Amino acid sequence: MGQTREFKTEVRQLLDLMIHSLYSNRDIFLRELVANAADAIDKARFESLTRPELAREWAIRLSVNKADKTLTISDNGIGMTEAEVVENIGTIAKSGTKAFLKMLEEKGDKENVPELIGQFGVGFYSAFMVADRVELTTKQAGTDAPAVRWSSSGEGEYEIDTAVREEPGTEIKLHLKGDAEVYLESWKIGEIIRKYSDFIEYPIILPEVKVNDDKTETVTDRVLNSQKAIWLRKPSEITDEEYKSFYSHLSNFGGTEYLKAIHISAEGVSEFKALLFLPKEAPFNLLMPEIQKKGLQLYVRRVFITDECKKLLPDYLRFVCGVVDSNDLPLNVSREILQENPHLAKIEKTITGKVLGELKKLLENERDSYAAFFKEFGRVLKEGLHTDFANAEKLKDLVMYESMNSEPGKLITLADYVAAMPESQKEIYYITGEKREAVASSPALEYFRSKGYDVLFMTDPIDDWIMQQMFQYRKKNFKSIAKGDFEVEGAEETIKAAQEKFAKLVDFLKSILGEKVSEVRFSARLTDSPCCLITEGNALSPHLERLFKAMHQEVPESKRILELNPKHPLIEALFELQQKDEKAPELTAYAKVLFDQALLTEGSPLPDPAAFAREVTSLLLKGISVK
Ligand code: ADP
Repeated sequence: MGQTREFKTEVRQLLDLMIHSLYSNRDIFLRELVANAADAIDKARFESLTRPELAREWAIRLSVNKADKTLTISDNGIGMTEAEVVENIGTIAKSGTKAFLKMLEEKGDKENVPELIGQFGVGFYSAFMVADRVELTTKQAGTDAPAVRWSSSGEGEYEIDTAVREEPGTEIKLHLKGDAEVYLESWKIGEIIRKYSDFIEYPIILPEVKVNDDKTETVTDRVLNSQKAIWLRKPSEITDEEYKSFYSHLSNFGGTEYLKAIHISAEGVSEFKALLFLPKEAPFNLLMPEIQKKGLQLYVRRVFITDECKKLLPDYLRFVCGVVDSNDLPLNVSREILQENPHLAKIEKTITGKVLGELKKLLENERDSYAAFFKEFGRVLKEGLHTDFANAEKLKDLVMYESMNSEPGKLITLADYVAAMPESQKEIYYITGEKREAVASSPALEYFRSKGYDVLFMTDPIDDWIMQQMFQYRKKNFKSIAKGDFEVEGAEETIKAAQEKFAKLVDFLKSILGEKVSEVRFSARLTDSPCCLITEGNALSPHLERLFKAMHQEVPESKRILELNPKHPLIEALFELQQKDEKAPELTAYAKVLFDQALLTEGSPLPDPAAFAREVTSLLLKGISVK
């Protein structure tokens, strides 16, 4: 005997929300129903392990009837008894319903209802977003409980009755609302399945009707999903082709070439499987924000949830693409709530550790590939030095730089640098600048070259920023050679002598250069050049100053120190000229040119290039006419 029963209050409130609001993302109803069907098959398949007579050719079938405007989703899974139907989708207000309503009340966030619903174990009701009547027929597998028919318009009541159905499983027929007829279209159904349920293990079949020339119809089964939950398979059983096609399906970068595939199978505190890829080539927009929008694809038990979850990977690993399939997260979690789920932090930690470990292996075993990878993605990876303190030491082992002693284009690690340090060298020296050519000709290198020390060339725009956080590597301090605060052995005597001998010249230079410099002094760091400019203490490096200016940011005016080379013939010549004729007009011109060429060698623009050219021309002319 059929019965009409009432939904419990909470269910009624929930259904009310489904029926009377118009949601922008209604597509997810199909994801929910297909996920339920797949779960039901999971359960039946599990039973069939001990009761082989229950085994079937597992499948989820969809069918549409355009005349009746119905969409049917059926599975040959575990099915339900009458009591289960009542309990699962009927009267008993599950705790999830209450929690869901409470959350809605608190958040007042109705637009997100479709996103939120599955999370609270009430996904079935999302069917009422698109249907004004839902009929469910089900028969439990492996028992002789009679089949059950449940139906409802979602308005307060449902009918329940016994039904006739031989095959175990569940069929859900949706009578689509007038504004939901798009869900009768096979392209739309295909689109949703491919988007959300592509990797469901069981075939999701939609019969395709073809009208033949003789007007007869041929119906063929079309499988909508690829079923390839490749990340759940053993790496040894996955072919290169499969990896490649999966990579190109995933990657924002295009192409099928990747550097490395990484499988993760985490158990214990957080259970998840992941298949990640290190890409080979950076896209042109690597540093632009749009590339950062997409994250790893998050699945929960093979059901696609989102690819916009930022919490699965730290930003500095954003070049990694792939799939994470969690066993712990609730199905269909909303994005906002997802971000707060504590499992994500555990997943992120595991993934970060694994990716850094793989990079290290790559560096150790395939140095050339790693260096090529680093040239593409190093500047992104380096951001981690500034943001991920927990992994700072691991990251320091992974960064690479060009250096004064290595040939152009060749990268060395900090470990390489330290290993090559002569015993007398105590610190790690570096210089920042735009490109190799610019830093390689800096006069500041001269002293280090003469000592046989190497200097790291840091030519990425973010290097200056990174170096503000990077103080040591293997207990050795980093020192910028463009800064004044380092000591040159045995220099004291020479400098003192020069300071005394050239005191008048120094005073003169100070008076001419005035505000442009904070100090003029002698140093022993130069061998070939007459002078160089350095910064001191916390002042911005000239490179960083240029960068900020290029970004139209306000930069505090930092004055440089002009350091003179006491052994340079030009200094000696200037001194002699001054001795001869203190008022010689060309002395002023020499002083200006000296300063400007120091600016040029550090890669800074001249404030007045025309004036510089004029001075140089007139000095050249004098030089020529003397001869
Ligand atoms: P959830 O799937 O998150 O538990 P739903 O509201 O979607 O929440 O479904 C409620 C319950 O109804 C499920 O847990 C399951 O026990 C049962 N159910 C739903 N669909 C099916 C189905 N196709 N076959 C068997 N049981 C089902």
